[in-house]
Amino acid sequence: MPSDTTTNSSRKILVTSALPYANGAIHIGHLVEYIQTDIWVRFQKMRAHSCYYVCADDTHGTPIMLRAEQEGITPEALIERVHGEHSKDFSDFAIEFDNYHSTHSDENRELSQDIYRRLDKAGLITKRTIEQLYDPEKKMFLSDRFIKGGCPKCKAEEQYGDSCEKCGATYSPTDLIKPYSALSGATPITKKSEHHFFQLGECEAFLKEWLNPDGETAPLQLEAANKMNEWFEAGLRDWDISRDAPYFGFEIPNAPGKFLYVWLDAPVGYMASFKNLCEKEGLDFDSYWQPDSDAELYHFIGKDILYFHALFWPATLKFSGYRTPTKICVHGFLTVDGQKMSKSRGTFIMARTYLDHLNPEYLRYYFAAKLSDRVEDIDLNFEDFTARVNSNLIGKYINIASRSAGFISKRFNGQLAATLDADGAKLVSEIQAQAEQIAARFEARQFSEAMREIMALADQANEYVSDKAPWVMAKAAGQEQQLHQVCSAIINAFRVLTIYLKPVLPRLASDVEAFLNIKPLQWRDVDGLLTDHAINKYKHLMKRIEPPQIDAMLAASAATLQPTKPSPARHGEAQQKESKQKKSKVAKKETTTPDNGAGHSVNDATDNTIQFDDFAKVDLRIAKIVKANHVEGADKLLQLTLDIGEEKTRNVFAGIKSAYSPAQLEGKLTVMVANLAPRKMRFGLSEGMVLAAGPGGKELWILEPHEGAQPGMKVK
Ligand SMILES: [Zn+2]
Repeated sequence: MPSDTTTNSSRKILVTSALPYANGAIHIGHLVEYIQTDIWVRFQKMRAHSCYYVCADDTHGTPIMLRAEQEGITPEALIERVHGEHSKDFSDFAIEFDNYHSTHSDENRELSQDIYRRLDKAGLITKRTIEQLYDPEKKMFLSDRFIKGGCPKCKAEEQYGDSCEKCGATYSPTDLIKPYSALSGATPITKKSEHHFFQLGECEAFLKEWLNPDGETAPLQLEAANKMNEWFEAGLRDWDISRDAPYFGFEIPNAPGKFLYVWLDAPVGYMASFKNLCEKEGLDFDSYWQPDSDAELYHFIGKDILYFHALFWPATLKFSGYRTPTKICVHGFLTVDGQKMSKSRGTFIMARTYLDHLNPEYLRYYFAAKLSDRVEDIDLNFEDFTARVNSNLIGKYINIASRSAGFISKRFNGQLAATLDADGAKLVSEIQAQAEQIAARFEARQFSEAMREIMALADQANEYVSDKAPWVMAKAAGQEQQLHQVCSAIINAFRVLTIYLKPVLPRLASDVEAFLNIKPLQWRDVDGLLTDHAINKYKHLMKRIEPPQIDAMLAASAATLQPTKPSPARHGEAQQKESKQKKSKVAKKETTTPDNGAGHSVNDATDNTIQFDDFAKVDLRIAKIVKANHVEGADKLLQLTLDIGEEKTRNVFAGIKSAYSPAQLEGKLTVMVANLAPRKMRFGLSEGMVLAAGPGGKELWILEPHEGAQPGMKVK
């Protein structure tokens, strides 16, 4: 039984985290889920259960197709590169999957197409012709996010096809004023197409039974179950599971030109990744996925994708003849300093940026100290982060070892005593007595409670150290044996606390195991003592966080202009070719659920950040001011003749007369915008613009490059 944590009977457990989408880098908002899942899995493994943790990149859909096109590569090349980046980020955060696969795999194609056939055979697929907006230039149907136009309510321009960012109105894309394709700028036409629908409404009775709200083994937390009931009350709608070509995904069997919608094959990716593992390791796939399976199946997800995992996924599994999930563990989002992660504030922190500055186990510990079994957002506050890591992990836990280890190596040749003193033995047994209580916290995903209880035990150990004051004993005569026993008791207390923290801090625990000269710790090792045993010389186990490290990380984060896209420079690739797509916001997978309009707080930070492509559109050149003249009848303008390395000079009217005389400018170099549309003025044609700073009047300074720059050089 899932709730049984007291016996040693081995459970068969399969665990997943949501599949990250393959068009962007992993950020610390994502890590809440992977760290939470990894802690839980490591705990199960330490309890000697058979537990597998699988995941994969989610690789299909229009955004991937367009992103690859934009980079001038195939979708396959794009997803392969991102797979490498994601794998590296996870592994550097000590997130240890048993298999990290891809939804673009043979296993997933076979399983997804087979599931479609089974659902069709069960009579749950229906076909209907629908009308949709279509881009006649790109020759493709447009989902809501790829259509823009004026908000029908507040008239704000450049709003997306599903909702207005200005006034919050939701509407259908056909309601937009002057709609246009965000891909090509073309005016969309309406076009008919046959779509395949999964009849979710037919599954309502089953879903209500599965939800089993009063049972001990309810698959959902209360908050999530309440959400489900709201959806039942609103009525379950048919789910559109087909997309028309061109689409990067799997074809629907016997329906040329029709593809499975990415959200159908993504959760099947859990099965496919496990199937791939079974093939590699000779495991029995069916014994985990058949309806009578004795294995437990846990999905860890964020609250924004509950609809897919708690409605579609169990229904899909049930009616294609598979088992259903044991539990769906839903978590909230991450905020930073109480606010949505933001690119402009530098708090939209990529996993890699964090790793460049800080130890990943700080974040693992901090998240553990904040996570509960509820669907709540958690906040990363950097002052709190620094204080908790420094005072709890280092000040309390690490300190226990560092206060006694030196005496063991210097005075007792690294050998622990054969027996402990009475108080020491009592301390260790009190710490050991909490093992099942702490295990129950881990099992129930009440990690913050577990961390609180472990730190309370560390306090107890530190009190013992202060009471006994081994540094005083070390100076007194004739207390050698007592010193030996006390220091050995301290090391034993530290050993047990390390077991409790090991799911959270696997690398630190591994360093402790090396220091204590012992085999990898399992949960059952809580019992027993380490006596008459040689340990190694103590080396410093963890450094304190220094505030400048945090500042440096935030500065580096703010400096990353393209946080959701890997920067081209990092991958040594040429800048993408010019394309109108750049205007489109394709960072997230397109969705069609009724409930995800505003949910993507961590993925959806909007501010005035521009992409590199936008900057690259501006053709900035070094210009030599060949001539400068007053303009008859203009009291603000000077007429500049500029050499930018072209055959002909440019004529530019600049509003800098109040600050410069023509003589001050002639012969000087400056910077001009060379591709600004020419402007017809009363005095003639102005063919560009020179750059200047300052409030105006006399306080105006034109830009001048350092010596060596030549007319015509591109500023980039
Ligand atoms: Zn509006």
